[in-house]
Amino acid sequence: MTKVFSYLGENNLNRVGVEWRGIEYNFTQAWEMFKEIKLDRTAPSFQLVQLIIEMDLFYNETFDELFETLQEYRKIDDLCIRGHRKFLAPVIRPPKIIGIGRNYAKHAEELGNAVPETPVFFTKPSSAIIASGDPIRIPPAAGRVDHEGEVAIVVSKNCTDVRAAEAMDYVAGYTIINDVTARRLQDEDKKRGLPWARSKGFDTFCPMGPYLIPAACVANPHDLEVTVNVNGEVRQQGNTKKMLFKIPQLIEYLSQNMTLYAGDVIATGTPEGVGPLTAGDTVEVSVADWGVLRNRVV
Ligand code: MG
Repeated sequence: MTKVFSYLGENNLNRVGVEWRGIEYNFTQAWEMFKEIKLDRTAPSFQLVQLIIEMDLFYNETFDELFETLQEYRKIDDLCIRGHRKFLAPVIRPPKIIGIGRNYAKHAEELGNAVPETPVFFTKPSSAIIASGDPIRIPPAAGRVDHEGEVAIVVSKNCTDVRAAEAMDYVAGYTIINDVTARRLQDEDKKRGLPWARSKGFDTFCPMGPYLIPAACVANPHDLEVTVNVNGEVRQQGNTKKMLFKIPQLIEYLSQNMTLYAGDVIATGTPEGVGPLTAGDTVEVSVADWGVLRNRVV
């Protein structure tokens, strides 16, 4: 499995790295070298995963081809990332983040909600995004704040009115999201018939990462274990096969409501077991073998 990530490199520059066959490489440099070797190719210069997605790289070049070509012509040891580095969110400023509510029957039940007949969705602002390793900050007036571990889709191409049968062509890859929610404020707003924007949108309430997993590396996104640990104790354990609306249906439904842009992130909903976070906690969300999204709470 190839894992793509953004990180803070030398001189505090945003870089893109790729974990390929267990070793982490500077993908930005690798791509530059690859271009030199394959002179016939015109390729953009870029540093952010968002741009990789927009350039459709996952479809035009596989990572295997890229690194195998480099190995054939060059020593690629120099491209290894060494020493300390800080993760950035895989998609730093997505055009939008859409969250799906009540997409697991047992989670709808635990919060006293009916199972929906059509997908329930809301948006989270990109200002809420933090990376794995960054702290979740609970605002003093927020009251109860919950973890919600989720699988997220990253959209590959701009699209409108996509049919479910073609929807998977618009998935660039996947990542992990913690859809942190100020539960007391959400309950208050629900009672008053108000939207969820307030309770879902605080700064740091959208931890994302650590990796972007290219779609080609995920055989079946509807059979993935989702686990949330708080201070090492299991709080949520679910499987994406229990999703009420599967990814093709979600993309079909959402793209009828609004144009989806390359780089948009869709959090597909959380399984049961949501619970409160308090200062001092460390919350970890993991999905299959995609790595661990780890954040402490302050
Ligand atoms: Mg959620």
